[in-house]
Parts: sequence; C-alpha cells; structure tokens
Amino acid sequence: MASKHIDRRTMLTRGAAVAGSAAVGTALAADPATAATTPGIGTRTAAGTGATIGPDDPRYDLLTNGINQRFIAQPDHIKMIRSTKDAEDSVRAAYRAGKRISVRSGGHCLADFTCNPEVEIILDFSEMTGVDYDPRFRAFVVESGARLYNVFEELYKGWAVTLPGGVCHSVGVGGHVSGGGYGLLSRAYGLVVDHLYAVEVVVVDTRGKVRTVIATREKDDPNRDLWWAHTGGGGGNFGLATRYWFRSPEATGTVPGDQLVSPPTTMLTSAIDIRWEDLTEAGFTRLMKNFGAWHEANSAPDSVYRHLSSLFNVNTRAHGRLSLYTQIDGDIPGADKLLDDYLKAITAGIGARPTAMTKPSGELAAMPNLIEPTRMHWLKAARMVGAPDPVGANPEARVGLKSAYFKKNFTDHQVAELYRYFSDPDFGSPDTTMVLLSFGGTINSIAEPDTASAQRSSVFKVLFQTIWSEPEQDDYYMAWIRSLYEDVFAETKGVPEIGDVTDGCYINYPDMDMADDRFNRSGIPWHFLFYKDNYARLRKVKSRWDPSDFFRHSMSVKPAR
Ligand SMILES: Cc1cc2nc3c(=O)[nH]c(=O)nc-3n(C[C@H](O)[C@H](O)[C@H](O)COP(=O)(O)OP(=O)(O)OC[C@H]3O[C@@H](n4cnc5c(N)ncnc54)[C@H](O)[C@@H]3O)c2cc1C
Repeated sequence: MASKHIDRRTMLTRGAAVAGSAAVGTALAADPATAATTPGIGTRTAAGTGATIGPDDPRYDLLTNGINQRFIAQPDHIKMIRSTKDAEDSVRAAYRAGKRISVRSGGHCLADFTCNPEVEIILDFSEMTGVDYDPRFRAFVVESGARLYNVFEELYKGWAVTLPGGVCHSVGVGGHVSGGGYGLLSRAYGLVVDHLYAVEVVVVDTRGKVRTVIATREKDDPNRDLWWAHTGGGGGNFGLATRYWFRSPEATGTVPGDQLVSPPTTMLTSAIDIRWEDLTEAGFTRLMKNFGAWHEANSAPDSVYRHLSSLFNVNTRAHGRLSLYTQIDGDIPGADKLLDDYLKAITAGIGARPTAMTKPSGELAAMPNLIEPTRMHWLKAARMVGAPDPVGANPEARVGLKSAYFKKNFTDHQVAELYRYFSDPDFGSPDTTMVLLSFGGTINSIAEPDTASAQRSSVFKVLFQTIWSEPEQDDYYMAWIRSLYEDVFAETKGVPEIGDVTDGCYINYPDMDMADDRFNRSGIPWHFLFYKDNYARLRKVKSRWDPSDFFRHSMSVKPAR
C-alpha cells in the first residue's frame, strides 16, 4: 500500500501523542513450537479449557444456531474454546473420534457453514476476546472471538489506533478477517487484511498430527502461504484461527501507536431519506445512476474522496424510504464542501427532495438531526452506525442474501430491473434492502494476487438482503431474491460476472446458490466469482495445510489434486 494513501504524518503524530499512555500487553510466543503452550492474553483465555455443552444443557439450543435461523445444527456438543491449547486438544479429540466439526467465532455467518445437520461438534471461539499489543511482533493481537466494536474501542482507547473493519458491532473477528473485512474507513485505509501481519492457526495433517502454526507476511516466512490464505480466503477452510496480529505495512519504529492507522478525530456525518412516494421511475433511475457515476469518477486510490464513504439502503416501497448515510473525515481541508458537493451529485435531477432520516433503516438508526451535516467523534459515528442490527435484533430472522462488486456504473438494464423489484407495490416486505456500499480508494492500491481478496478494482459493492421470520415463507423469499438477482444480471448470465461492469461476489456475504447449478446457470464456477484467479493458489495452500479436508463446509476451498 503506497504510504501517500494513508496520511502517515498524521498517523505518526497521533500515535506518538498517546504512546506514553499505552499499556503494553503480555508478550506472546512468536515461535510456533511454543505457541501451543503459551497461555495467551486475557484472564478468561488463561483459564484454559472451555465448557463442553451437550443436548441436556440449557445453553445447548442457544448455541446450535448463529444469526441466520435458516441454518440449525444438531451437534453432539458445542465445545467452547478458551486457549490455543484448548483448540489443539479439541481438534485432536474430534479428529481421533472421526467427528465432523465446524468453527465459529461471532456466529454471523449468513450461510450454513457453521450450523448444518452434518456438523457433530461446533468449536466456538466466542469466549476468546482479548485485544492487546504484542511488542515481539510490533503488532496488535486480537483473539478470534472478539466482536468488531469491542476491538475498535479497545484499540482506540488503548492506543488511538484502529482497523478499517465492518459496520455491524457484533460481527466476530474470526470470520470477518479471514474473509477480507471491509468497513466505512476502508476507502481511506484499505481492507482489514491489508493490515494483517500474522495469524496463529491450529492445523491437522493426514496422520492426524495436530499443531499450531504462526504464519506471517514476512517474505522469508516458510508459512507465508497460510498468512496469505487468511487475507480473504474465507473462514473455516484451513484450520482454527485462534488469533490475528495487525500492523500496517508501512509502520516503523517500536511505538505501539505507530503500528496501525489512526482514525480521523472527527467524522462529518450526514443522513438523508428519499421517500418512495416522491420518486418516479425516472427519479429512481437518475438516483442509481448518480451513485454509480460518482463512485466511478471518485474512487481512485489518490482521490481526496477516499475519505468519504456511504452506506445507502435502497429499501423496498413497502419500507417507504431509501436511506443514505454518508461520512467524511472531518479533519481534511474542505470536508464540508466535499460532502455538500457529493450530496448534490447524488441527488441531482431526481425530482424528490431529501428528507430527514426519521425511521430506522437496516443498520441505520433514525438520525433526524443529521439532515444537517454534523461533526462528531469518529468512535461515536462508528457506534451510531451499525448499532441497529436488523438480523441480530430479530431472534427468528431468516435471511437470504447475495452480493456483487461493481467496477462501473449500473447498466440501464440493471437499473430498470432494480426499479421493477424494489418499487413493486405487491411485494410487501419492509425488510428487504439493496445496500450500496462505497468501495475503492485505498482498497484498490493493492494488486489482486497480493492478498486473497481479489476484488481490487471495484468502486462500490452491493448487498441484496431479504429478512423474514416464518419457516414456511422460505421458498417465497428465496424465490424472490433469486429472481431479482438473475434478472438484474441477465446481461451477464444471471450473475455479476468478472467483466467490465461487475467483479464477482464477496465471500463474507456467502451465497450458496452460486455453488448450485439450479441457481447459478452461468457456467461460471462459484469460486471464480468469489476468488477469481486466486482460487488455484488457495487450493495449493489447502493441500499443504489441510490435506485431509478436515475443515470444510458447503463453499470451502477444495484441496488441489
Ligand atoms: C448483520 C451483519 C453485518 C455485517 N457487516 C459487515 C461489514 O460491514 N463488513 C464486512 O466486511 N462484513 C460484514 N458482514 C459479514 C461478516 O464479515 C461475515 O459474516 C463474517 O464471516 C462473520 O464472522 P463471524 O466470526 O461473526 O461469523 P462465524 O459465523 O463465526 O464464522 C463465519 C465463517 O468463518 C469461519 N470461522 C469463524 N471463526 C473461525 C476461526 N476462529 N477459525 C477459522 N474459521 C473461522 C466459520 O467457520 C465460518 O465459515 C456482516 C454480517 C452480518 C450478519
């Protein structure tokens, strides 16, 4: 990552200012040979062995499912993991007993990877939540069960640094990082994995020998391929990731606060709604095209607009509103005008007057005051956005989702189909949304093969999401979202092909349909859509570190033959 894309001078100044007060944590073993016996960080981790929770335990039902109630497991037991040694012992026992396992950290997987009928033991990291500074690696170490917002708070309050991670507070580090990790700071600072220095992984060979490996990004590290696989190769593929270390590539010195990016002090924030009742088809078309055109023009790695990101919930007519949240680094010169120009560009010619965001919309709470752009501390902005979790808040939430990366603006055909589906007065779901997320900027300063996150030339990405509660409505909602996707991408065989306009899908928004010929009729393999040319290398890594395919799920990387 070119240092000019991160305001290094600001980062160093801010880092130095807090270095004196930063607590330096427990040193961790960098030597793989001793890692397994290293107690690790945090008192609970040091406690050693987590509970084994079987069907008679009152906690069992709670732990047989994650965030998407379409997917329930009936395992023999759930094993809570409290340390690297506990992880090793648990894998060894499961392997010897011939048990099918799955791995879970934050439980936010939207597919069936962790909870499905074949799983016999769920290995659960949600009690390993430590965040600390490790002077041996000059890096921040984060355990897999930590939740994103807790990580942001700990990193910031301890050292005034951060990671450009996701919006939803309760997403777990274990899955988020291994899938790439993206958030509203990513246009300025890159993906989370662009700051990944090392990962500790419990692996098992064909003879059942279990060991713990630390893989770093150092060029001469013989385990470097395992580090690379954790920069977007997806969770549940190679072993148990027990903890991750983060240090920005251009960081120097030994001051903890200099080893990661510092967030802006203030965010200039804006929230507006556009009411469906005010929108014609022409207005909707203009709005979508404005969003795409602006991102196409303003997403180069050196654009000043890398400091601005939007989360735009294009809800159905049944919800009533389209909700646009935008934030820009409030410390950069001209931030107010840059934001004003952006909002004018997005709403130009739509024939509808933006109104205050008075109604919750997906991960956006009602933010009526932000109709007037407002400065706030960046951590308050991070706390505000993503606090409502439309999936987590509904204990019965059943979710269908699909994703697409865009390198260029929507085509006329795509916008026409989006209008047809989202404006349909007969589709009564208020909890169905197309989330448009700003992408590009610093993310695109990395070459595609350098990390396993292959989408490095997109300017925005799209998450299609529908949520319902009743199991008997599964077919209806899944048919709706499948039909939407196929029709929107009809010009490219029903999927966001790797092409001029689109660039495939995001593995952290896993869509099992893409691996199913009934729903992906494009002839394009699912793994090409998600990993592009990086898949061949992922398969080699898989063969080396998990040759018996012990860690697997419905969209896992297959060992190379
Ligand atoms: C409401 C919501 C909001 C989201 N917002 C964002 C966002 O803003 N940005 C973004 O990039 N993504 C976002 N995501 C996607 C999120 O990053 C992925 O769902 C992520 O994989 C979740 O990680 P987890 O640990 O919580 O999930 P889990 O269900 O625990 O795991 C997900 C996958 O990772 C594997 N895994 C988990 N822990 C480990 C481990 N320790 N070792 C090896 N494999 C492991 C699992 O086996 C599974 O395959 C969001 C998801 C939801 C539900």
